[in-house]
Amino acid sequence: MNDKLQEIREKVLLKLKDVKSLDDAKSIKVEYLGKKGALTEILRGLGSVAAEERPKIGKMVNEVRADLEEKLNTRLAELEKRKLADKLAKEKVDITMPGRKPQEGHLHPVILTLREMKKIFMRMGFEVEEGPEIENDYFNFEALNLPKDHPARDMQDTFYVTDEYLLRTQTSGVQARAMQSREPNTPIRMICPGTVYRNDYDATHSPMFHQVEGLVVDKNISLADLKGTLETFCKEMFGSSVKIRLRPSFFPFTEPSAEVDISCVMCGGKGCKVCKNSGWLEILGSGMVHPNVLKMSGYDPDKMSGFAFGMGVERIAMLKYGIDDLRLFFENDLRFIRQFK
Ligand SMILES: [Zn+2]
Repeated sequence: MNDKLQEIREKVLLKLKDVKSLDDAKSIKVEYLGKKGALTEILRGLGSVAAEERPKIGKMVNEVRADLEEKLNTRLAELEKRKLADKLAKEKVDITMPGRKPQEGHLHPVILTLREMKKIFMRMGFEVEEGPEIENDYFNFEALNLPKDHPARDMQDTFYVTDEYLLRTQTSGVQARAMQSREPNTPIRMICPGTVYRNDYDATHSPMFHQVEGLVVDKNISLADLKGTLETFCKEMFGSSVKIRLRPSFFPFTEPSAEVDISCVMCGGKGCKVCKNSGWLEILGSGMVHPNVLKMSGYDPDKMSGFAFGMGVERIAMLKYGIDDLRLFFENDLRFIRQFK
C-alpha cells in the first residue's frame, strides 16, 4: 500500500515539475485529489483492509494527501502569479512614447496658386465674381462677340449638355453677366476665377482646368493700364526681376489683342529648354475690350473703354513650381501632391 502511495506521490510531483499552464495544474489537482481522484479511491478502498491496519494506512494516505495538496497549491499560486505578470507585460502602456500625429491635409498646388493670384489682384482693388460652370451658348460665346458661325469657336471645342447649354470654355461669361447686372456704364474692376472645360488632353492641356480672367471698364482706360496691371501681377507672382512683353494676337472679344510673355523664370531670359531658347514664356492673353462686347452688355463704347485678360492657373503653377506635365495636377499621385505641404 505504501508503495502505491509513493508511486502516486512521485507521479504527481513529476507532473507538477513539467506543468506550464494554470489550467493543466488545476486538472492535475482534480485527477489526484478530487472526489474521483486516485487518493480518494484508496481511502474508499480502506473497507477491504484489515481493521488494525486501517488507522495506519489512513494516516499515511492523509499525510501524502496533505503534502501533495500543499505542493499543488504552491504551484498553482506560482502559475497564477506568472499569468498575471504576463498579462501586465502584454498590456503595458509606455506613457513616455511620443503620440501618433494625425495626418494633416493641405491645399492642392492649383488652389494654392489660385489663392495667390486672387490676393494679388484684390490688393490692386479687383473684386472677385463667380458664375455657373454650366453656361448657356449666349454667355459663353455670343455675348463675347462669337456668333454661332464664328470660326474662332473651333479653338474652344467643349462638352455640350444640350444644344443650348455647355460646360463653359472660359470664365468670360461671368464678365458679360457682371456688366449686364449693373447699371449701364458703371465702372468695373473684377476678376473671375473658376473651373473651365475643353475637349483637349495632353501634357499641356487638360479637359478640365482653371482660369482667372479679368475685366476693367471705366472712362479713359488704355493699353498702358493693361500693361501696367499685368506687369505688376507678373512681378508679384514671379519676382521683381521679371520682365513682360506684349505680342500682337487675335481674340474675338478684344481689339487690339495681345499675348503676354514673361522673361523665362528658369533661365532669366538667357534661353533654356523650358523657353525653347527664346528667353520668353507665354503666360496669358489680353486686349482692349471689343466695342461690340461693351455694346452687347449695355455699355457705350464711345464713353467707356476697358481691357480684359485671361490666364490658366495650371500654367502659372507649372512655371512657378517648375512642373513639366500638367496631368500631374489631376492624377492624384500623393508623392507629387505632398511636395506642396
Ligand atoms: Zn528659359
